[in-house]
Amino acid sequence: MNPRYVSTRGGGAPVSFREALLQGLAPDGGLFVPTRIPSLPEGWRDAETLPEMGTRILAPWLAEEVGAARLGGIVEDALAFPIPLVPLSGEWDGVHILELFHGPTLSFKDVGARTMGRLFAWALDGEEVTILAATSGDTGSAVADGFAGVPGVRVVLLFPEGQVSEVQRRQLVAQRENVRTLAVRGTFDDCQRLVKAVFADPQGARLSSANSINIGRLLPQMLYYSWGLRAMETPPVVIVPSGNLGNLTAGMLATEAGLPVRRFIAAHNANAGFARFLGGGDVPAGDSVRTLSNAMDVGVPSNLERLRHLHSDEALRQRIAGEWAPDDDTLRTMREVFDATGYVADPHTAVGLTAARRESARLGTPVVVLATAHPAKFPEAVHRAIGQEPETPPRLAALMDAPERFETVTPEVRALRDALRR
Ligand SMILES: *Cc1c(COP(=O)(O)O)cnc(C)c1O
Repeated sequence: MNPRYVSTRGGGAPVSFREALLQGLAPDGGLFVPTRIPSLPEGWRDAETLPEMGTRILAPWLAEEVGAARLGGIVEDALAFPIPLVPLSGEWDGVHILELFHGPTLSFKDVGARTMGRLFAWALDGEEVTILAATSGDTGSAVADGFAGVPGVRVVLLFPEGQVSEVQRRQLVAQRENVRTLAVRGTFDDCQRLVKAVFADPQGARLSSANSINIGRLLPQMLYYSWGLRAMETPPVVIVPSGNLGNLTAGMLATEAGLPVRRFIAAHNANAGFARFLGGGDVPAGDSVRTLSNAMDVGVPSNLERLRHLHSDEALRQRIAGEWAPDDDTLRTMREVFDATGYVADPHTAVGLTAARRESARLGTPVVVLATAHPAKFPEAVHRAIGQEPETPPRLAALMDAPERFETVTPEVRALRDALRR
């Protein structure tokens, strides 16, 4: 039988995947976790394409509920882009970069968001829902792309006007079917406050969220770990540039399912609460600080509750090492990797590479660094590090020229409610 899902806070009876997907958060405020973790199916390494492997691996999780053929179609449609493992050379020999950023919005979030969008279409089965999300960066555009044109789904995105980079803004305001973008005259905190207020009192609207706490985004993220590591004979150290820890949680699920990994490293920027926790410190609390790798600027990682439900603190500390790097180190790593190998890394990936440098010197074990964003999303930081701008892939160039559509609203709950009614 496919696993069912319970709340990390223990409330309520186990629910189906469909219910967990549509609810997002459990009714008691906890996060949904699977009641058991199915093993990787025999022969998983033999799949020839990513969608084929993805379908095989997700089958024991979802095939009974979703239907095997429908599941295959969803995965194939969602993951229609390459995820290559790129080896570095010279002094970076032994370090491999798993490039997760070849999807439509050029961040790894496309994997989860696109699969989740298609799973939503299946789960809604003709009903209607509004996905409401506040975003400061990559999540918004990945969700907009992942749900655009999905029958029954309307997406409303909020972002703080003037506080995202030009590339991020263009990606958010590009016209898409069923997607409305609201530029809020305020801060990211204002956006989140408005969204929370409307969720607390939806006044009849059927709302759902699409952030990384949704189990429907997490499960597909297991796939690229298996895909990337399929040909490795020695279990590698896997380095995950981390913020809300969704990516790392998916990696831990993959190893629980049987994927051989020597150890994980959670690589953070100056928002290093989880790294300190792994070193024996308290559970992270408190505000985030702004860094160059802004998609990882998280004070309290939302998926930590899930990780601590699935594993004891002792087990987490044994299986995951925490590292962190300030912006100066990140920029230096970008320059050093470029000088030594010609590889252009974005600032998030470079936080991971900074940890890789320390690790590969120490171990002589293969190291896999997850590359979470395309460098072209962060031209300013790349220019600062290596003195030239990254090449713009055709996909991004097209988006930069796409027609824009957005509305500007004041940072008031009333303004958001009005906009939702229109
Ligand atoms: C969201 C994001 C991260 C952090 O991922 P989590 O799953 O929240 O830990 C890292 N890098 C990039 C580029 C991102 O967009």
